[in-house]
Amino acid sequence: MPNYIGRFAPSPTGPLHFGSLLTALASWCDARAANGQWLLRIEDVDVVRTQLGAAEQIIRTLEHYGLWWDGEIIYQSQRTECYQAALQQLQQQNDIFWCTCSRADLAQTQSDIYTGHCRAHHQYRSQAAARLRVYKSIVDFDDGVFGHISESVADTVGDFVIFRRDGLFAYHLAVVVDDAEQGITNIVRGADLLNNTSRQIYLQQRLAVTTPAYTHIPLVVNDNGEKLSKQTGARALTWDNPSHCLWQALTLLGQHAPDVLQSEDCATLLTWAINHWQRENIPKRLTL
Ligand code: GLU
Ligand code: ZN
Repeated sequence: MPNYIGRFAPSPTGPLHFGSLLTALASWCDARAANGQWLLRIEDVDVVRTQLGAAEQIIRTLEHYGLWWDGEIIYQSQRTECYQAALQQLQQQNDIFWCTCSRADLAQTQSDIYTGHCRAHHQYRSQAAARLRVYKSIVDFDDGVFGHISESVADTVGDFVIFRRDGLFAYHLAVVVDDAEQGITNIVRGADLLNNTSRQIYLQQRLAVTTPAYTHIPLVVNDNGEKLSKQTGARALTWDNPSHCLWQALTLLGQHAPDVLQSEDCATLLTWAINHWQRENIPKRLTL
C-alpha cells in the first residue's frame, strides 16, 4: 500500500477554469512530492447538474496540462450500488430517518438548522429524503492550510440529507463512500468545501471508515475580495500556453517558480514543482 493516495474529484458541470486548475495542481503536487498516487474521480452523482461532454473536456484539459493520474477514472454515476449499501448500513444502525418535509416546510422554519421534525420516521417512505441523525458532538480536524477547525454539526446544520427526495444520492454520501473505498489518505481541494468537511467527517465516523488528512486551497479572489466568477475572469482555460498558466498557478500557491520556467514545457515545469513543493507556503488568501 502506498502511504499517500490523493485524488482530484471534479464535478462535470462545465469546463475547468483557473480556480479548479489551481486546486488540481496543488493536489497533484502534494501527492507527487510525497511519492504518492493521484486518482481521478468524476463526481457526476448529481445527474441533474451534469453537463454533457464536460467530463471528457476536463479529462482532456488535465492531460494537456500534464496532470496525469494513476489507474482507472471512476464515475460516481456508475457507483449507485455502493452508495445504496452505505445507506442500508446507516439504516440498520438507525442512523437515518425519512424526511417528508417539503421545500416550503423547510423554508418556513427560517433557520438553516433542521428542526428534527421527521426524526420518528424510521421506515422508508416514498418521495422522502434520508437524513443522517446528527447528535451533539464536536468534530475536530487539522487543515493543512487553515489549521485547527472544530465544529458541532448539530448546531451548524443539524440532521443533513444523504439521499435526496428526487432519488439521487447526496454529494456528502458519495464523496465519503468513494474516498473510503479508494483508500484516499490526503484530500486537497477548494476552500469552498471547507464548511462541508465536518459533516463528511461525522459521516465517516458513522460508517466507521478512516478520516483522511484535509488541505483546503483558498479560493482565488480579485483585489476587491470577490470570488472569481465568469464575470470577474474565471473563463475556461485556454489551450495555448498551458505552462504559462501552470506557472501562474504555482506562483499564486506561494511556490517560487523561476521566471524562465514560464517558457518551458509542462513536464519540465511540473518536475520543478514536485521537487520544490512546499505545502506550508500556500497563503491563506490568494489574490489575483
Ligand atoms: N466534486 C466537488 C467539486 O467539484 C469536489 C469534491 C471534493 O473534492 O471533495 O466541487
Ligand atoms: Zn422532515
